[in-house]
Amino acid sequence: MKTTFRPRLLNGQTGDPALLVSLRWQGRAVLVDLGRIDRTPGAVLLPIEAVFVSHAHMDHFMGFDQLLRLFLAREGTLRLFGPAGIADCVQGKLAGYTWNLTDEYAFTLEVTEIDTTEMRSWRFAASRRFAREPLDTVPFTGVCFEDGILTVEAAPLDHKIVSLGYAITERTHLNVRPEALAAAGLRPGAWLNKLKTAVRDGAAPDAPIEVAPGDLRPLGALRDDLLIVTPGQKIAYVVDVLFSPANAARIVRLARGADVFFCESPFLDADLDQASKRYHLTARQAGALARAAGVARLQVFHFSPRYEGRYGEIVAEAQAEFAGREMRYGELDGRGASLS
Ligand SMILES: [Zn+2]
Ligand SMILES: [Zn+2]
Repeated sequence: MKTTFRPRLLNGQTGDPALLVSLRWQGRAVLVDLGRIDRTPGAVLLPIEAVFVSHAHMDHFMGFDQLLRLFLAREGTLRLFGPAGIADCVQGKLAGYTWNLTDEYAFTLEVTEIDTTEMRSWRFAASRRFAREPLDTVPFTGVCFEDGILTVEAAPLDHKIVSLGYAITERTHLNVRPEALAAAGLRPGAWLNKLKTAVRDGAAPDAPIEVAPGDLRPLGALRDDLLIVTPGQKIAYVVDVLFSPANAARIVRLARGADVFFCESPFLDADLDQASKRYHLTARQAGALARAAGVARLQVFHFSPRYEGRYGEIVAEAQAEFAGREMRYGELDGRGASLS
């Protein structure tokens, strides 16, 4: 099956967390976490429309300046989501520079704090020298972002502060059957994207779609003849969390059935005490969570540099646990953490 989401860890498994999810054929992208991004070419970053930050520890947020600099002279709005307090962090960063020459700029930053029951938003416009202006406050029930293509869910997790886990789901997956296209005497073109958008938006079956200049056909017939509609892809992302019963339950719910689960794995299980003390997972715990959530693929990352030269052991431990080879599910319960 052709995939729409193309996820890529910009700094690999060992560098700062920054997961770029490109939406193929859409020319759009979202970024999950904002660690260093200075080694990524600007052209790769410019399609970003929204950034989802887990928490504002440096390794997850220090790329903010680089992204701001890239977007500053552009028109449009960049949206940034994060836990309660993220707007203060943004404001603090913006206050670190002088903005006397941006009055003509059309760039706006829109920041949304995801709190337990509500989402609060502010606007920072370059033309207003990034003064903080309140926008709306809306209820939060799990979904923090939604448009015609994707839905983003957020889950607050315990890292001694809130670290947000995210799940990005494609609403529906629409594939074109090329043989049906040829049989109908049609040529591929921009109209296919319009057809897909209309289908996703739930347009009426008799809505006309222009398949060639002057050739209008009803949406319903085109959809039935040309498209295969399947459930969308899902990508889950969890970093910097304690392995506690409450966290485990939330992570399993968030990542349930994901096609790819990006999960932090800073420590080997031999250093379990250290991991718990620092509110982080071990590789084995990441594997157990992935298995409990029934994900298709586990991608571990965010390794502690203390294991440099031994990163293969982390991956092996996580994958062995994920595959159920090393240890039975119940054994984790004995450590005071239930996965149910
Ligand atoms: Zn971290
Ligand atoms: Zn952290």
